[in-house]
Amino acid sequence: MQKEITMLDVHKIREDFPILKRKVNGKPLVYFDNAATSQTPQVVIDTIVDYYSNYNANIHRGVHTLSQEATDAYEIARKTIQKHFNAQHAHEIILTSGTTHSINIVATGFTNFLSKGDEVIVSALEHHSNIVPWQMLCERTGAILKVIPMNEDGELLMDAYDHLLGDSTKLVFTNHISNALGTINPIEEIIEKAHSVGAAVLIDGAQSCPHVKPDVQALGADFYVASAHKLCGPTGVGLLYGKEEWLNKLPPYQGGGEMIDQVTFEKTTYAGLPHKFEAGTPNICGGIAFGAALDYMNSIGFDAIAAYENELLEYGTRKLLEIEGLKIYGTSKNKTSVISFNLENIHPYDIGTIVDKLGIAVRTGHHCAQPIMDFYKIPGTIRASFSFYNTKEEIDALVEAVKKAKMMLS
Ligand SMILES: *Cc1c(COP(=O)(O)O)cnc(C)c1O
Repeated sequence: MQKEITMLDVHKIREDFPILKRKVNGKPLVYFDNAATSQTPQVVIDTIVDYYSNYNANIHRGVHTLSQEATDAYEIARKTIQKHFNAQHAHEIILTSGTTHSINIVATGFTNFLSKGDEVIVSALEHHSNIVPWQMLCERTGAILKVIPMNEDGELLMDAYDHLLGDSTKLVFTNHISNALGTINPIEEIIEKAHSVGAAVLIDGAQSCPHVKPDVQALGADFYVASAHKLCGPTGVGLLYGKEEWLNKLPPYQGGGEMIDQVTFEKTTYAGLPHKFEAGTPNICGGIAFGAALDYMNSIGFDAIAAYENELLEYGTRKLLEIEGLKIYGTSKNKTSVISFNLENIHPYDIGTIVDKLGIAVRTGHHCAQPIMDFYKIPGTIRASFSFYNTKEEIDALVEAVKKAKMMLS
């Protein structure tokens, strides 16, 4: 029996986002840069205002009432995040400043576990933040970086992955969904195969979490990372999920307050999880607002979100392809609501500038994924990424704007 999906009411949802009422260059804002950052609903804004208006205090230290209230709210948020990602323990959820920070904690932590000749595997579809820290790790340790190649549709070549795996493979890193093309990678298979040779796996969920609800225990990922700002939350906060045994093994990333057990000038012992990785005063308000953002998205429901966004993807793809000379990059059947495209002989930046004049926000450039652009031998693309608060009318506006830009530029 097919699972029943409650359809979402997009016009009611749009009321939750104050920014969607504003005008840009005299036109109603059409926000299609959701893969870079999502917009913020009123409940999350209210959570932030409430924190600074009523109980702003440092956490885990004061006995005073404000500090206890802030600590309670922060730890409740951690539990909300744990539940959302279905981690076994709340202390497996490390609150970080975002995906990039989370990846660096792991990449730095592995320095002592790798030696010359060990191999680490990344995918060709990675964001720079899931390439550079591993290159730095390889430089420090003498390990070798191998890359799972991709095909014209923007899909990973799983046969090639099989050949890359071996006794020397120690780590595999891949994103769940590519931010540049929207491809959904077969991470279940990637994880299972990595584990069969004894390698650990980190999944970059920055781009998948806005569309699907991951279950880290079912996936069996050793590490899973994401940023709140792509999930209707604020910037500057994210998570590192790690299996307890891995987080116990990894050394701390930064030294400072909050991450210690005992400090003397002779020797310092570290605090247990999760505090070992949370040195200094964290983004307290951000963590609490992250929890509120997940509650908001769950109140709509990820099944409804995915179904509606797929409808937008299908509609947008069809309408954009009606424009002559328009080419879409990333044509896998398994993809989310990201459309990366170019118009023949026109630089993406020029189109981006013209559509902005018409109130439409798209991203132009390499999307922090230069290797993908090199694969297609292009400088960049125009990327329209849709969220559950976007509408088909807005897609129509984009199509008209691109047609207009094409006329002006060719
Ligand atoms: C956005 C993104 C990142 C980087 O996230 P930050 O919040 O900038 O740290 C990494 N990987 C993917 C796939 C992304 O989409």
